[in-house]
Amino acid sequence: MNSPAAPVSRRQVLQSLGLGAAVLAFARPSGVHAAAPGVEPAAQPFTLPPLDYAYGALEPFIDARTMEIHHTKHHQAYINAANKALEARPDLRELGAEQIIARIDAFEEPLRTTLRNHIGGHLNHTFFWKLLAAPANYQAGPLRAAIDRRFGSFEAFQKAFTTASLARFGSGWSWLVVKDGELDVLTTANQDTPLLERAQPVLGLDLWEHAYYLNYQNRRADYVQAFWKILNWNTAEAAYAGVATL
Ligand code: MN
Repeated sequence: MNSPAAPVSRRQVLQSLGLGAAVLAFARPSGVHAAAPGVEPAAQPFTLPPLDYAYGALEPFIDARTMEIHHTKHHQAYINAANKALEARPDLRELGAEQIIARIDAFEEPLRTTLRNHIGGHLNHTFFWKLLAAPANYQAGPLRAAIDRRFGSFEAFQKAFTTASLARFGSGWSWLVVKDGELDVLTTANQDTPLLERAQPVLGLDLWEHAYYLNYQNRRADYVQAFWKILNWNTAEAAYAGVATL
């Protein structure tokens, strides 16, 4: 976030919640993740979404063991932590993951950081699973055309995305987003979602070592290269179409 928010009272939080959709300055009503059917996590308690493919479907680019641990252990852990943190806040029970992120500055610490990390992790992974698929041929759609216009070529975009991915120190994510009406490449630290930066994710790559260490060890560049083989362009195109209709 650009500016740290001052702690606010519970009354102020409730007031802001009462504003409903008007508070969602950057998230469209259904949220960008809803652009692809079933991508948006259901409301609380958050639950682990099943994958649309077998754990071994992405081999040899991502191995089955990594996928299973990533899905059932790492993603589940974010969900568990988010649900636990929200147990004491029945006043927030009706809010979805994106709605909580949209209000994140209104929460007191340490709840704010807990929700930012764990709901961010839930949103990011829920979207990420949909962005992966066994290698396939895709018809280039409006997103691919927009990438060519914005970056000059698909290869130039890949280069920018890879450079950003390698430059992200430690754990985080690299993204293609729409921000201020333009496609852009950015990275986020930890489990921060681009929504925190008023950017709508179109595609993203998990840069945490837990996403690739068994196969690639320290070779993040090879993992990024593999991503293009298993990227589900239908999901990315759908996410872009959702943003484009804002
Ligand atoms: Mn992960």
